[in-house]
Amino acid sequence: MTDIDNLQQDKFSLERPTFVSKWGNILTVIGWKGKSGNNKKYAVTCNQCGDEVFYSTKGSLVKDQTPCRCSPNYREKSLGKCSKTGLNLDTYCGTKINMGKCVYTVLGWNEKQGFNKKYIYSCSVCSQDSDLFPLGSISSTKSGITKGRLCCGCTAKPPWSQEQREVQIKRELSKCNSVWVGWSDGRYTTHKSKFNWICDQGHECETDVNSFLNINSRCNTCRILNNPQLYGHYPDRKDELDYLYIFKIKGVNYFKVGRTFDKDRRLGENQKRINSHYNDTSHEIYDILYFKGTHQEVFDLEQKLIGLDDSVFDDYRPEDHYGSSELILLEKYDECLRIIENTLEKIN
Ligand SMILES: [Zn+2]
Ligand SMILES: [Zn+2]
Ligand SMILES: [Zn+2]
Repeated sequence: MTDIDNLQQDKFSLERPTFVSKWGNILTVIGWKGKSGNNKKYAVTCNQCGDEVFYSTKGSLVKDQTPCRCSPNYREKSLGKCSKTGLNLDTYCGTKINMGKCVYTVLGWNEKQGFNKKYIYSCSVCSQDSDLFPLGSISSTKSGITKGRLCCGCTAKPPWSQEQREVQIKRELSKCNSVWVGWSDGRYTTHKSKFNWICDQGHECETDVNSFLNINSRCNTCRILNNPQLYGHYPDRKDELDYLYIFKIKGVNYFKVGRTFDKDRRLGENQKRINSHYNDTSHEIYDILYFKGTHQEVFDLEQKLIGLDDSVFDDYRPEDHYGSSELILLEKYDECLRIIENTLEKIN
């Protein structure tokens, strides 16, 4: 503010002329102070650069030479090193920049990107989390920032580093008493990078970053163990030939639906389980029908039939009968058969 108080005025400055620079910012003359040779040095403010006062001659202003930070050629004066952070300081440091979603503060710089200094910023939002955003994690050149490009977590796709990904993942792991092992490829490259970890039940897991953090994928083994319906699903075999079968059982008003990769073996297993459940051999399997399709088609249909679609089979009670959750009321048989025939090919 002292700068403005000490300014002198003349006819030119009192008119408060404005100049639009080639960088799009608007400069307003507010007075003059001192000379450069024979030319008065006019004081200007910039609509982009805040309260700070810059100096330029009338000739330079007319010639479109930008005296403020909007020019990539603006030279900041060096102010040594910060004893606390070790960063190099200059006159740009301390500047606050409104980034729309947050406000950046220029903390200093420690390396160059080409000819440009790579400045380190703090973000009014992200830097509150100093584990995820330690000093140095938010950095960009001045021109990147003046173009409004966010380089912190406030942007839709933050440029996460491997260290930041590990912080995010380990936080989630600790919430479910799980243990970080390491990156599958030794390092993080993209959100598809996979890492190894051990769930609270001791299962060895491998999950990609996106599935883990954004889709909430956790231990696959636990998932299948906790959801009996998922038994029998082999995602990596989804295109293999698979069989859906249905059969009736003598003496009961339920029929069974199931799937198998090996259709000859499964039938014998089923009869054995029925015999041992009823403790006799009178409950013979009959009316066996087989259908074929890909594993994914067969699995999906089986899930639909055994009751995931409650609207179709809402009165089915697996607990009353042998053989798991794959029994369906006999009165639903025709309806069930129609659905199967619409989807899979019948075989003999
Ligand atoms: Zn400016
Ligand atoms: Zn931020
Ligand atoms: Zn598990």
